[in-house]
Parts: sequence; structure tokens; C-alpha cells
Amino acid sequence: AARTAWAEAGVRWEAVVARATAHGLAPLNGSAPHVGVVAYTLGGGLGLMARRYGYAADHVRALDVVTADAKLRHVTAESDPDLFWALRGGRDNFGIVTSVEFDLVPVARVYGGSLVFDTDLIEDVLAGYLAWTASVPEELTSSVALIGLPDIEQVPAPLRGRHTASIRIVYTGEAADGERLVAPLRAIGPRLVDTLAELPYADSHTIHNDPAMPHAYLGDNVLVRDLDAAALREVYAVTGPDAPMMVMQEVRHLGGALSRQPVVPNAVGRRDAKYIVRVVAMIDGEDVGVARAIQARVRDILEPWAVGRNLNFVYGDGVCPTSDQVDSLYDADARARLARLKAELDPADVFRGNHNVR
Ligand SMILES: Cc1cc2nc3c(=O)[nH]c(=O)nc-3n(C[C@H](O)[C@H](O)[C@H](O)COP(=O)(O)OP(=O)(O)OC[C@H]3O[C@@H](n4cnc5c(N)ncnc54)[C@H](O)[C@@H]3O)c2cc1C
Repeated sequence: AARTAWAEAGVRWEAVVARATAHGLAPLNGSAPHVGVVAYTLGGGLGLMARRYGYAADHVRALDVVTADAKLRHVTAESDPDLFWALRGGRDNFGIVTSVEFDLVPVARVYGGSLVFDTDLIEDVLAGYLAWTASVPEELTSSVALIGLPDIEQVPAPLRGRHTASIRIVYTGEAADGERLVAPLRAIGPRLVDTLAELPYADSHTIHNDPAMPHAYLGDNVLVRDLDAAALREVYAVTGPDAPMMVMQEVRHLGGALSRQPVVPNAVGRRDAKYIVRVVAMIDGEDVGVARAIQARVRDILEPWAVGRNLNFVYGDGVCPTSDQVDSLYDADARARLARLKAELDPADVFRGNHNVR
């Protein structure tokens, strides 16, 4: 069918982006081109154009999956409504997905890039960014990342050895409107880097510029219904230059299409969240307990606003999430439905060693 992609397990986003953009289309991939399509999508999939189009899981048409009874099934909304609902958000609890078919969107170019501010402006950036998100349309998806980059050659010269705030923008409207929309951000102060421009979607990986080199990261996050700049400053006091290891703090602006269930609803939950606050600690050779303590402290700070967690951004040390953590991923009714379906479709718990929804 038109505007459709089909990817086998193991395919990475970069391959889909290359094929889709050749037709003036785009998939709902995330920040990094080397992330796998299937797991990203089954976990929800919070993409570059998320506020405009919702989660990647919202655009799945069909899945081929080997279920606990060792059968290969072609699963659609019509063939297996419960399984189709559960796989999209329940990820690896119901089967091994061998391929996925999903919609592409008619986006050939976006206005986007990043604005990087130096250490002395970080507090202004946090306050300015939060205030600004209240006024932007759904066509604009953005995030701000605070990170201290090492003083090494691989890091661009202006950023080497500095703690910076990087605002990332993806706007699907006209470039001139994009320029107007970001003016309040540029007004925060001088930028070390300013790459905002119209670009072909094929170059969208340059917006976040995620490192391609694998490292050991411990990732956790808090989905919040709201936020204030004072809380973000408190989080930065824990994750910033005084942290005992390299930690990235990122806030992504949610809402828009993410807050609505798709035409065929799925298990992806916590759609009432307005922001996600991620804390990613680099744990190569570090004490994982210290990284966990940093993340727990951030969770405490954000507790008054917390509505849950996002599955895709929980990863790291191979320890399975506790049942409380699993509960935090889903709305209560979806959590109960997942448990019922797990008992029915995988009674022997064949698919375990995961965020188990039993
Ligand atoms: C640099 C980077 C950037 C990222 N950016 C984003 C982003 O912008 N938005 C976002 O939403 N996420 C993002 N993520 C998170 C990413 O979506 C998840 O880590 C995802 O699970 C990665 O999938 P994988 O195939 O690469 O990993 P894997 O480790 O292979 O898989 C992760 C999980 O999915 C399950 N799984 C894998 N394959 C299958 C299958 N075929 N069938 C059933 N279950 C399966 C596994 O059991 C495992 O629990 C990012 C991750 C990285 C490393």
C-alpha cells in the first residue's frame, strides 16, 4: 500500500530513513539512526516529530510474531485485536516480532537543528525553554539536553570540556514560521552552536547528533504532568558538574498527538504527561549503585509532578524492572489488561527476563 514500510527484526532506522526519504516520505524514528526499528516501535517510540504524529506504535498496521505456542502469526487489528493492542507498548511480553508494517508520513524537509548555550546560561535556558513550550504548536517537537562533554578530539571544538545546554528543534511547517517560533529561544543569549535551518529529512540524524559509539548507559526517566524551572535547577544540581560521573539530563516536550490514543488504541500509556525528564548515566567502569542513587534522587525531586515512566528510556544494567516500575509504565486499566492477556497468551511465562507484565 502507499506510504507503507515493512521492516524485519534487526533493521535499524537509518535503513528505513534512506528508503523512505527517496520517496519524499519519513518514518517516525527517534534521535539515533542506529536504533532498531522493532524494539523501538514495540516500546512506544518517541520520535523526532512526536508531537505532530504521536508514537511510532500508533502507526503500526501489522506485525508478524512468534507467540508462546510457537506459532508464527500475522497480527492486525482485525485478526487478533487483543494481541495487536498488547504488542504495541507491551513490547517483549507476548512474542518475538519478526517484522513490522507501519505508516510513513509525507515529510520531505523539516526546519530543525540545535541551539547550544554555554554553562553560564543553563539556568536561563531551563526557565526560558519551559516557558516557551507553553506557546508552541503541535508541529514543533523539541527537547533540551544538559551535558558535560569530555575534552577530547571527537567533540566539536566549541563544546570540548564544557557543560552546555542543547535545545533540539524539529518543526514540520514552513521554515519562515520555524524561524519566527524559535526567536524567543535565540533571545536567551549567545549560542556556542546554532544549526537551525531547513534540512532534508534524510539529514535528521544531525539534529540530536547522538554518539554512534556504543557505551554502557544506565537510563531512567520520569514522565511529568508539569514542571517548574526551580525543580529542573534542583535536578541539574544532582546531574550537573558536581555529579560523580558523566550524566546527561534531558527534557523532551510531549503532548500534542502523543496525548491522544490512535484510531486503533494500544497499550502505550501515560499519555497525559507533558514532559519526560531523562537521566542517563555513563556507567563504563563506574559504580552502578551511584548512578542508581542519582536517578532515585531525581525521581524524589520530581515526585510532585510524576505520572509514570517511558519504557524505551529504561535500560542499562540488565536488571529486570521491579513490579512497581512495571506499574509505572502503564495506565492502571491498561496494566490490568496486560496482566490478563499475559496469563491468557503466555501462561507459562515463556517471555520473561523482561519488564514482566504478569
Ligand atoms: C542512542 C540512543 C538513542 C535513543 N533514542 C530514542 C528515541 O529518540 N526515542 C525512543 O523512543 N527511544 C530511543 N532510544 C531507546 C530505544 O528505543 C530502546 O533502547 C530500544 O529498545 C532499542 O532497541 P534495540 O533493538 O536497539 O535494542 P535491544 O536491546 O535489542 O532490544 C530492547 C528490548 O526490546 C526487546 N526486543 C528486541 N527485539 C525484539 C523483537 N524482535 N521482538 C520482541 N521484542 C524485542 C528485547 O527483549 C529488549 O527487551 C534510544 C536508544 C539509544 C541507545
